[in-house]
Amino acid sequence: GSTIGILGGGQLGRMLAVAASRLGLRTHIFDPIEGAPAGDVAHVVTTAGYDDESALSAFARSVDVVTYEFENIPTEALDAIEAIRPIRPGREALRVSQDRLTEKDYLSGLGLRTAPYAAVDDTASLKEALDRIGTPAILKTRRFGYDGKGQARIGSPADTDSALAAMNGAPAILEGHVAFDREVSVIAARSLGGAVACYDPGENVHEGGILRTTTVPARLNTAQRTDAALLAGRILNALDYVGVVGVELFVTAQGLVVNEIAPRVHNSGHWTQNGCTVDQFEQHIRAIAGWPLGDGQRYADVEMQNLIGDDADRALDLAQEPRAALHLYGKAEARPGRKMGHVNRILG
Ligand code: ATP
Ligand code: MG
Ligand code: MG
Repeated sequence: GSTIGILGGGQLGRMLAVAASRLGLRTHIFDPIEGAPAGDVAHVVTTAGYDDESALSAFARSVDVVTYEFENIPTEALDAIEAIRPIRPGREALRVSQDRLTEKDYLSGLGLRTAPYAAVDDTASLKEALDRIGTPAILKTRRFGYDGKGQARIGSPADTDSALAAMNGAPAILEGHVAFDREVSVIAARSLGGAVACYDPGENVHEGGILRTTTVPARLNTAQRTDAALLAGRILNALDYVGVVGVELFVTAQGLVVNEIAPRVHNSGHWTQNGCTVDQFEQHIRAIAGWPLGDGQRYADVEMQNLIGDDADRALDLAQEPRAALHLYGKAEARPGRKMGHVNRILG
């Protein structure tokens, strides 16, 4: 049997390791933080940071293929690994998704619609961008943002200085505010041989920048469903992608607008654990291990609710709820905004 290497031992790494074990595969996980959630279910190497080239090389030699649960892996670490073992999804997917500006350029280059955007490095470029794009708008750091962190809303030109200050000097991107009807995401997979499969799109609700719920089926018409699958396939083929991707979309009267892509399993795909025969975690493992993709057909209506911070205090109540599947990540400390688990409710 082969061994899967995963960079990152958070909840996504943990659920990937569980899926791999069901297929009879072993998992080694690289994570500099001691006591990472995946440590309960897989062998975790905790001895080094992403700047420790010899530890990365030893890790790569101990596995057959390397994947990851987050996209912000330093380029040097990727170089050290790739000299020894394949990284799937590949470098191009990481290059494109690590920087919001590169990502928007890439997506619009494929002919896909994005929010209007401009690079921002200082007051002058922000003013220029605001003149062109207008308000309301959102200023975001180009790199490292997640759960709405590193973002500042600009409701009117009066917010310019405070928004720029919120970037702490980091390179930024201004995005025009998209007046969307709703937000959906497509979780899609591409195999080593180039086969593509899309899960049914989910409808996402955010609170305070953090995903709160995903519901399937999303409220989309037939043409929108087709568009969602076509654009996901277009992105996957263009990147020569192997694995699962999350594509976040805004639904507007003028069509689907791509918000961002995540080159990994995605929080808005957690419903697949209880709504499909083969969930996103198994699908990702299958793809990167060179297996055929599995059956991702949706067989139930599902609402996934994230358990954030002290939501998880209600775990024993949730455990008694009928038609509800509880998933806990084994995190000892519940901090505000921290994802502790999720519950998938079968609807209807
Ligand atoms: P994630 O945790 O999904 O990686 P993130 O920190 O990368 O989040 P975004 O997805 O860029 O942040 O933005 C978070 C949310 O803010 C979006 O899901 C959407 O609700 C809102 N938002 C972001 N950009 C725009 C925009 N240009 N127009 C309208 N709403 C937006
Ligand atoms: Mg993001
Ligand atoms: Mg997002």
